[in-house]
Formats: sequence, C-alpha cells, structure tokens
Amino acid sequence: MTVRTRFAPSPTGFLHLGGARTALFAWAYARRFGGTFILRVEDTDLERSTPEAVEAILQGMEWLGLQHDEGPFYQMQRMDRYREVLAQMLDDGSAYYCYASPEEVEAMRERQRAAGEKPRYDGTWRPEPGKTLPPVPEGRKPVVRFRNPLDGDVSWDDAVKGAITISNRELDDLVIARPDGTPTYNFCVVVDDWDMRISHVIRGDDHVNNTPRQINILKALGATLPVYGHVPMILGSDGEKLSKRHGAVSVMDYPAQGYLPEAMLNYLARLGWSHGDEEIFSMEQFCAWFDLDHLSKSPAQFNPEKLAWLNNHYIRQADDARLERLARPRMESEGADFNNAPPLQAVVALMKERANTISELADAAMLFYRQPAPDAALLAQHVTEAVKPALAQYADRCKTVTWSREALSAMLKEVLATHKLKMPQLAMPLRLMLTGQLQTPSIDAVVELFGRDTVLARLDKFLA
Ligand code: GLU
Repeated sequence: MTVRTRFAPSPTGFLHLGGARTALFAWAYARRFGGTFILRVEDTDLERSTPEAVEAILQGMEWLGLQHDEGPFYQMQRMDRYREVLAQMLDDGSAYYCYASPEEVEAMRERQRAAGEKPRYDGTWRPEPGKTLPPVPEGRKPVVRFRNPLDGDVSWDDAVKGAITISNRELDDLVIARPDGTPTYNFCVVVDDWDMRISHVIRGDDHVNNTPRQINILKALGATLPVYGHVPMILGSDGEKLSKRHGAVSVMDYPAQGYLPEAMLNYLARLGWSHGDEEIFSMEQFCAWFDLDHLSKSPAQFNPEKLAWLNNHYIRQADDARLERLARPRMESEGADFNNAPPLQAVVALMKERANTISELADAAMLFYRQPAPDAALLAQHVTEAVKPALAQYADRCKTVTWSREALSAMLKEVLATHKLKMPQLAMPLRLMLTGQLQTPSIDAVVELFGRDTVLARLDKFLA
C-alpha cells in the first residue's frame, strides 16, 4: 500500500502543541514508509477561519521542519468538487433533500427528549420504496442529508484504540449540505480523504465520533477506507486538558522563548509514543522507528521541565555559530554593546552548558556586553583590605602573563599561594569587579574572554 497521510488543521487560532504532535506523527509515518504527507487547510468555517491563522500554521510547520509533499490544499477552493459529489449522491440516492425547517427539527428533538428517546432526525424526508414524501413547502430551501444505513454496525480497527464498533442506530442522517448549498465539515473531510487517496488518517481522538459517519459516507461513495488512528489528547501536568494555564500552548511561542525546533520535535515525539527507553533521538531516527503500534492509548501529560531538559541537551549539541545567530538579536534588544568585547561565538560556547533556552543563554551572555555596575555593599564585602594586595598582584601579573586559560589559572593559583588565600577569596572580588555579579562561569574563562585590556582597565578602577 502506498502510504499517504495528511494534516488537516482548521485555521481558527494558532498551531497548538496537540496539532503539531498530530502533524509530526502523520509526517513521520509517511517518511517511514516512503509515502506522501499532505497539508490540507480546513477553512470552511468562515466565521472562525482567518488568514492570520493559516499563516501561523504554515509558520509553525516550517519552524518544525515538517515539510509537506502535497498542498497546502484549501477546502474553500474545492467547493465545486464538493458540489459535484453532492449532486452525484443525490442522483444515486445515497443523499436526499430534507425540507424540515430548523424549528421543525427542534420540535422533533423536543418530542423525542420528552419521550425519553435519543434525539435524532426522524426520517420524514428520507425516501423509501413505496413511501410518499410530504409536499415540498413553498420557497423553503432544503438541506442535503446523507442516507445512513438503518441497521447493522460500523466497525473499524483503530490503529491506536483497537477495534471500535458503533451501531448504525446511533447515527443520524447527517446534514451534508446547508440550505445555501455549502457542504458541511464531515462531508468535506470525506471527499478530501477520498480524492487525496489518504491511506492513514492520524488525528486527535476528539474526532473519533466523526469516524463512523465518515466511514459510512466513504462506503456510499465506493471508496477504499483508510486506516484510522486516533491519538489521545495531551493533558496538563494536573491531568486537565492542556491550556494556557500550563504554559504556552502555541507552537510559535516556543521559538520566541528560545526553544530549538529539534528539542520540540523530540519532545512531541515522546508524547504518547515510545521506542523502548529512548528519550533523545533525531528526527531521522524517529522516522525510522515510528509506527502506530507504539502509540499510547492513554492521554499524554505535558511536562515543561522535560521539554526544558531536552532543549538544554540540544543547545549543548548546537553549533556555536547557530547559537550566536539566535542569541545576538535578543542581546541587541537588551542593549548589548559588542564593541571591544569578546566574540559572541566564544561566549555562547562557554555559557551554553547551563542554558535551558536561548533567552537564558542570551541573558547569561550579557555579562560580557554591558558595563559592570557592582553593588557598593557587595564590593565592600568582597574587595576588602585583606585581599587587595593579592588583587593588585593579580592585576600586575595580568600585564605580562601569557593570555591563555591555562596560564591564567596557574598564575591565579600562585597568587593565592603567595597570599595564603582560598580560591573564592579572589575569585569573588574578581567576578564582581569584572562583571558586576558574583555568579559567572569559571573566573579564568571569564578573564581570558574579556582580554587583557578590558581586564586591566576594570580592575584598575577599583584598585587604584
Ligand atoms: N480540521 C480538524 C481539526 O483541526 C481535523 C480533521 C481531521 O483530521 O480529520 O481538528
């Protein structure tokens, strides 16, 4: 079978983490089997769909690198095709006009509810052999209903949830076109999945109730049924549906916060899917492993700490030139002064170990690119008369020492020994005088990066 999968977002907001995960699974499945991944924008809800949301989805997919092979197809551009299929179904009797007004349908439901029955369309306008239909009310525009089988079951072997069977008695004659002729959601999905020869429908399990209706329509069209796999929701760490309360839920908030796409992809891949104990893997590996058998039947929980941990891993792995490119604009907007300062690439190389995000990396790197303004009380506490002679000697030796981390480290140790001091007694005041803060990477690394002139100038200010 040729694998053809699709991601079919409705452009009504941003690209949600859950949507991105669905897209990732559909994409990886196509990649695994040398298939085709299709992007389809389900934009028929004119009130809620916006061009900005379409843009946000495309941007999110691009950031993640989930490239589609076909599309994007827009449902609004396929209206003629839906009308054509509607006409064909009206013609072959698998669909029919229903002239019941919304008020009549509502009254019907009320009666059924009052009688303790499940509300459903009562079939007034459904043609049957030998049945006489009511006279068409004048001037009323009909909806089109699908003629759902009355008996039997709809069954499918869900690739995630296992066998599912729904009795046709549970299913209404679904409205597939509105009085103005526009097709409804479930109908468009069916025609698209059919036309686009989708082999595997991988989607969120909020759609599982649509599946029996879609299968019945596909059958009526004589279409080959795709495999369906309904992926459970993503929940917040408190077990509630994932929402803003749990942190950012829009994929594009993550690059803004300084996450790398490979960290996000790796994280999403493990949300509801596993390959043994593997936690860290590339997309190449993921595409070689991904299958529907290892998708979890229970909802996954969003864990921001794990995402941050993965992001730290990928930041540490990342090329320094790339990290520089990502950090620099953030630092510019923080007023970083790159003149007479150490090369940013060397700074990010030093700082990346501890950064969970690019923003943290940029914030940490700022210590090399702003004038230090040490707190007077801290200066008094650390730059004491007792250590000043040692600091002066350190400054003096900085004039001639070979400017390498090793030589600087050896020199600092000699000064400590001469003055019988412990490392923090010199390292702390040096940090404070050079950077204005007490927490920095190793003092030798910081001194080396600042360079001789800056170090001498800064120490001089406090020791003169
Ligand atoms: N447009 C639907 C959504 O965004 C997805 C439909 C489908 O995958 O079948 O939830």
